[in-house]
Amino acid sequence: MGNPDADWLVIGEAPGAEEDRRGEPFVGRAGQLLDAMLKAIGLSRETNVYIANVLKSRPPGNRDPRPDEVAACLPFLQRQIALMQPRLILAVGRIAAQNLLRTDVPLGRLRGKVHHFGELNTPLIVTYHPAYLLRTPADKRKAWEDLKFARDVFQQLK
Ligand code: URA
Repeated sequence: MGNPDADWLVIGEAPGAEEDRRGEPFVGRAGQLLDAMLKAIGLSRETNVYIANVLKSRPPGNRDPRPDEVAACLPFLQRQIALMQPRLILAVGRIAAQNLLRTDVPLGRLRGKVHHFGELNTPLIVTYHPAYLLRTPADKRKAWEDLKFARDVFQQLK
């Protein structure tokens, strides 16, 4: 959901129960925090962001997605990316980051760098998942560093 003409694409993990019911990503508490995080760097899903998930439906019991499930959903995400051609991708959380970058490196070591994704070599930056930040508010400061980093990288792209 969001603006398909947006420069920014935020990619999360998978819809939760409420997201699955409504057919919209990030509509629960984590979504509210995500909106606040985006707002802090002048972004909103109504205007300059599109939001998608790696998984297109909810794994039972909110378990981590299996590799075959990621593989089944990835073509849809790749098509979304090909259609909207974002200028920057923000991967939120370990599952999105590791699957998009095809790595086992822990999220903490993927932060603070510009990675690239896909055929268009789209710059990709990693930060914490808002649901994780709700459980671990002490890491919000680091997420704020990531958002400022992403904003600065985006400004350099122009
Ligand atoms: N968490 C996600 O990663 N995606 C959603 O859409 C909702 C919660």
